[in-house]
Formats: sequence, structure tokens, C-alpha cells
Amino acid sequence: MAKVAFIGLGNMGGPMAINLVKSGHQVTAFDLSVAALAQVKAEGALVASSASDAVQGADFVISMLPAGKHVLALYLGEQGIAKDISKTALVIDCSTIDADSARKVGAGLAAQQIAFIDAPVSGGVGGAKAGTLTFIAGGSVADYERAKTVLSNMGKNLFHAGDIGAGQVAKICNNMLLSILMVGTSEALQMGVDNGLDPKVLSDIMLKSSGRNWTLELYNPCPNVMENVPSSNGYQGGFMVDLMTKDLGLALEAALQSSSSTPMGALARSLYVAHQRAGNGKLDFSSIFNMFAKKA
Ligand code: NAD
Repeated sequence: MAKVAFIGLGNMGGPMAINLVKSGHQVTAFDLSVAALAQVKAEGALVASSASDAVQGADFVISMLPAGKHVLALYLGEQGIAKDISKTALVIDCSTIDADSARKVGAGLAAQQIAFIDAPVSGGVGGAKAGTLTFIAGGSVADYERAKTVLSNMGKNLFHAGDIGAGQVAKICNNMLLSILMVGTSEALQMGVDNGLDPKVLSDIMLKSSGRNWTLELYNPCPNVMENVPSSNGYQGGFMVDLMTKDLGLALEAALQSSSSTPMGALARSLYVAHQRAGNGKLDFSSIFNMFAKKA
């Protein structure tokens, strides 16, 4: 059993922290949201009144925050908690952020002799709840091996992608592809509906044909084709359009830096930004399906 500080208990962090509690770790949690704290408290986590309090004496410090600015501020900002973390602790940031911010946090913590890895995740809220996430880590092999003590209680597939920041690069490549698959699946399903097909029947056909992909298998964007997915719940919960738009911005920044050609990623970002600007930022990213739907 390890002492774990967990900061950021949103759609992902909440269920991840709860899985650590269920695995027997002593979890001390902190979030700015009182409601989020109450949820993990009900499942047996201890709650702290600040991030600094949460990390006192922790063996592992895990953060799951929206974006790079939040992670930088948490560890290295004016009220940053780097000074409060034990020198023997391992810090694991699971947020999806730009690789440069991950490297800055790593360097800032290293200056205080604190070990750090970036370990963004794939698998969505369903994977977070089921403890089947994929973790994509960047950092030293020794720190990655040490992180497995806690990562294996929250995920099923653990990868070491390279040095600090490499986890983030792999993650944004994956999310760029995911956004393209989600847009493509949405337009294909809607075209089928427009031409008289039942979206459930069409989904079943494509699942056994060459258009098969993750969104059809686990996250169908058309309402009422699948149970227990955001599209069948008014696009609530899940992975917000705001966050997908952020990730696509990160992907395109990386593409600019490496002079990579990413026309499909650029188009997907434009579509998601338009969808966000139409007031859909807080909906799940599968709500892009509505962009193609015929309005009454
Ligand atoms: P979320 O908005 O539901 O949760 C973020 C939480 O962080 C909120 O509860 C917020 O109150 C808290 N927070 C923000 N600043 C804080 C601070 N300074 N101190 C303490 N708490 C703070 O977001 P999420 O969906 O859980 O996503 C978190 C990260 O995981 C993002 O980087 C996202 O890109 C990534 N991610 C999300 C999914 C998904 O399906 N939702 C999948 C993979 C990766």
C-alpha cells in the first residue's frame, strides 16, 4: 500500500482516484470543486483542504488537470507545491498537456530533487471507471517502473514512450487520429440515415467491415445506438469538446514545430473549433455528430 496524493478529481481523475482506494492505497485527494471532493470521500478517500496539504508525506503525487497552465501553476507557480513534496516521492502527471510544459515541470521538480514522469491516458471515462486505461509514460525507465505500483491499479496497458514529454507526444498523435475517426464516423452514419438506413444496422455492418474503428466499437456518436455512452445521455459526461479542441491545438503546435504535414488533423481541429464556438464546448466530443444532423 502506498500513500498517494491525487489532485484533480474531474470526469477522469475522480474514478481513477477511487480505483486506487479500492486497490488498498491511502489516497488523499484535492480538487477546487467541493462536489468532486465529496464524491471521492464517499468512496473512502481522505480529502485535503489544499494541494499542499494533500501531498504531505505522499509516496506518489498524481495530477489530472485540464491543461498545461494548470499543471505548471500547481507545481511551479507562486503557490506551487514543489516545495511541499517529499524528495523521495514520484510525481506522475496524467493530464494531456503540451510536451514543453511537461518538460518544464520535470526540470522544475528535478531542481528540487523530485522525480517526475508524464503519463497521459487513453480510454475515456469508461476506461477510468473500469480501471482499464492505457497509460503512455515519458521519463526514466526506473521512474516508469516505480510508477507501475499505482498505474497498474488504474489501467491495463502501460507503455513507456521515451524521455519526459514523450508520453504527451504519443498521446496527441492518438487524439488527433481519434478526432478524425469521430468526424468521419459521424458523417458516414448521418449519410446512411439521410438515405434511409437505421443507424444501428449501419453501425453493425461497418463494425464487421473495413470502416470498423474505436468510435463504432465503444463510443458510437449517434444517439440510442449504444447504451452507456454520452450520445445516449444528451452528450453529457465523457470527453468535452473544449478538451478535444485543446488537444487538437497541441497536435497542430507539435506539427508546426516538426514541419509535419497534418491536413486531416487541421480539418478536424477547424470542425471542432466551429462546434465549440456554436456553444457546444461542454458537451462530449461525440456531439460533433449533431453538426451533420438534419435540423427539423
Ligand atoms: P475535468 O474538467 O472533468 O476535470 C478537471 C478537474 O480538475 C476539475 O474537477 C477541476 O475542478 C480540477 N482542477 C482544475 N484546476 C485545479 C487545481 N488548480 N487544483 C485542483 N483541482 C483543479 O477534465 P477531465 O475530463 O477529467 O480531463 C482531465 C485531463 O485528462 C485533461 O487534460 C484531458 O485532456 C485528459 N483526458 C480526458 C479524457 C476524457 O475522456 N475525459 C480522456 C483522456 C484524457
